[in-house]
Amino acid sequence: MTRAYLSLGSNVGDRAHHLTRGVALMSAGEAARVSRVYQSAPVGGVAQADFWNLVLEVETAVTPAELLARAHAAETAARRTREVRWGPRTLDVDIVWIDGVVHDDAQLTVPHPRMFERNFVLVPLRELRADLVDDDALARGEGLVRVLGTLESLQ
Ligand code: ADP
Ligand code: MG
Repeated sequence: MTRAYLSLGSNVGDRAHHLTRGVALMSAGEAARVSRVYQSAPVGGVAQADFWNLVLEVETAVTPAELLARAHAAETAARRTREVRWGPRTLDVDIVWIDGVVHDDAQLTVPHPRMFERNFVLVPLRELRADLVDDDALARGEGLVRVLGTLESLQ
């Protein structure tokens, strides 16, 4: 089993509901830990609602490609559509980090090159894995985030 860290974000519809379903689909019955939920301003310049973000730790036996396929399935289950790049989405699931894995092909790059520099990933990831986000990494992180509370408290 390997530990993988997923960034989940939502800024359309019932954000707590989309995140809750995303957590359930991505953990698929395996042991999982989840960070608190953070509110963040969208990046990429498209006017849209704030995101709610969290990081999920899953114990998994599947390959990185299979994990990405599961992430896409979870997005599809949330009826995500892709009209605008960096546009609004019911659910975005990105693979941020997998213990011991460096992967780079046309479909998947791990560690995720951009996400790993953003505070909406760094701050919740640090809750779960302080060793992956030291003070310097956090100081370099981009974007404002505000803690909202646990996912349960937001239902
Ligand atoms: P973004 O998350 O960058 O806003 P999308 O969610 O539409 O945009 O993702 C576009 C593509 O990025 C995915 O279809 C996937 O193939 C690719 N990708 C590359 N690396 C990763 C990763 N670490 N996690 C998730 N998707 C990734
Ligand atoms: Mg994505």
